[in-house]
Amino acid sequence: MPSTEQNKTAVIIKLGLVALAFAGAVFFTMRGRGDDEARQLDTPESARPYICLDDGHVFQVTPADFKRLTEKLPPDDHGGNVLVIPCPTTGQVTATPAEQCPNDQTYFPLRQKNGKFGKCPKCGWSRHGH
Ligand SMILES: [Zn+2]
Ligand SMILES: [Zn+2]
Repeated sequence: MPSTEQNKTAVIIKLGLVALAFAGAVFFTMRGRGDDEARQLDTPESARPYICLDDGHVFQVTPADFKRLTEKLPPDDHGGNVLVIPCPTTGQVTATPAEQCPNDQTYFPLRQKNGKFGKCPKCGWSRHGH
């Protein structure tokens, strides 16, 4: 009977949704405690990698970090520019979102200084295929 199979799938999906909702509730409950100053996420899970084009090091930036790092910048230094945030080492605006190569996990700039998409320095992989 095919409907049994469908019911099973439906139950599994429902269980998955319940688990997700539960995880979400726990997450937001934990976030709610003593942290109303910043609505921006500041958790390791929300961080994304940035790479410094100056010295090539990679660091994780959460949305809260991003806000903190960019709020002091004059408008000309970010917004539309490839280089969006200051390097934590030099304080110069030389860091840009990083992409991680799916083949060898190498980090490289999502966009290069010239605005072109970056590619993996090891294997040449690019999200845009060229
Ligand atoms: Zn740097
Ligand atoms: Zn690669």
